[in-house]
Amino acid sequence: MLELVELPPEGARLYGQISFEDLHIEEEPQFSFSKPLSYELRLLPCGGQNVLLQGELQAEINLVCDRCGKIGSMQLPTEKVCHQYEDAYGKHIDLTNDIREDILIVFPQKALCDPDCRGLCPKCGQNLNLAPCTCETKAEASEEIQDPWKGLDALQL
Ligand SMILES: [Zn+2]
Ligand SMILES: [Zn+2]
Repeated sequence: MLELVELPPEGARLYGQISFEDLHIEEEPQFSFSKPLSYELRLLPCGGQNVLLQGELQAEINLVCDRCGKIGSMQLPTEKVCHQYEDAYGKHIDLTNDIREDILIVFPQKALCDPDCRGLCPKCGQNLNLAPCTCETKAEASEEIQDPWKGLDALQL
């Protein structure tokens, strides 16, 4: 647990690692965690009894690509942290919730091995990143035949 305790007037550095489990971030079918999150934070007294928290979070997650099923890992973009805690000087404050929210913000919306991943062919299962399959051209051809406007145009002539 990350806690802010007994802060000296000159501030304090807080660095180390915390597991996703301790941050209450649960694994999902597409995301898993084999490494803890690294944090490097600075705590500074700022005006009256307030405390400022600034620093950076770094984390790497494992993911299963949503399109092609490939298993990979991804470095989350470094998240800069800045929080102010009012009336916090000399008190116990649990930083876990804020760190949790800060890192969840940089999670990808979709788990992809690559933003341009072409996925698997829905018909034959071929991984289209490796090579194209022949279904694609067939599908395009049948779409043309099923186009209802084609028939209408012919009638109006
Ligand atoms: Zn993929
Ligand atoms: Zn195919």
